[in-house]
Parts: sequence; C-alpha cells; structure tokens
Amino acid sequence: MGIDIAVFLIVFIAMEWVAWALHKYVMHGFLWYLHEDHHVPNTQRWWQKNDFFAFFFAVPSFLCILFGTQLGAPSWVAAFGFGIMAYGAAYFFVHEVIIHRRLKWPVSQNWYIQSLIQAHRAHHKVATKHGCICFGMLVVPLKFYKKSLAKN
Ligand SMILES: [Zn+2]
Ligand SMILES: [Zn+2]
Repeated sequence: MGIDIAVFLIVFIAMEWVAWALHKYVMHGFLWYLHEDHHVPNTQRWWQKNDFFAFFFAVPSFLCILFGTQLGAPSWVAAFGFGIMAYGAAYFFVHEVIIHRRLKWPVSQNWYIQSLIQAHRAHHKVATKHGCICFGMLVVPLKFYKKSLAKN
C-alpha cells in the first residue's frame, strides 16, 4: 500500500517534467503540425488537432490500470497508471478549463493559479513553432509566482 502511494506521487510529479519535455521537444518539434492549431485556433470548430495529445496521457494510464487491477500485474502498476491519470486530469483542468475557458466551469483563482495563467499567456505570446517560452503547466518559472504573490 505504501509503495503504491509513493509510486502514485512520484509519477504525478514526474509527469510535469514529461509533459514539459513533450511540449518543448515534440509538440514544438516534429509533431508541431498537431499542436499548431492550439496556437493559431481554427474558429470553425471546437476540437483542436492538439487534443490528440490527450491520448498520450490516456492510453498508458488505461493500460497500467487495466494490467494492475485486472490482469495480474503488481498493484504499483495500477498506481503508476493512476498517477498519469491524475496528472492528465490536472493538466486538462488547468489548461482547458482555467486558462483557455473551453469549458465554462466556475473556477476560483488564487495566487498559484494566477501565476500558471500568466506563464501560459507568456507561452502563447508567440504563435509559431520556435521562440516560445514556458512549456510547463503546473510548475512555472519563479518570477511568475513572485509577480502574482506581490499582487495578492
Ligand atoms: Zn505550445
Ligand atoms: Zn494553451
């Protein structure tokens, strides 16, 4: 049980780094063609090609949970999957709901959320493959925390 919780937490934290690398080197790299419509939105449709990246979180977490709970793999394998799933849910909530307001769920803002918003706005300042900054989502450069703390 203890190991499962440890695996869950480590995977959740590590996923921020994985998502950062995915965004910086893959989405703004050889799969830019799928990410481009997130930076230059097509106003004709709600879905973005960029939404394809949800599978990056969903498929491995589904498989880990399936094997860890149903197919005889050790329980930490399921915990690994739940860690990815929880990170994917947090990413979705912060990025699609809070920042881009693609779903109009009511959200309250605190200094932490405000610093994530500011950092991601800085990412969207540039709408091209190269030249962007702030590829992380839940962990952003210190200056954004300092700025929003100063305002609160
Ligand atoms: Zn981007
Ligand atoms: Zn965005």
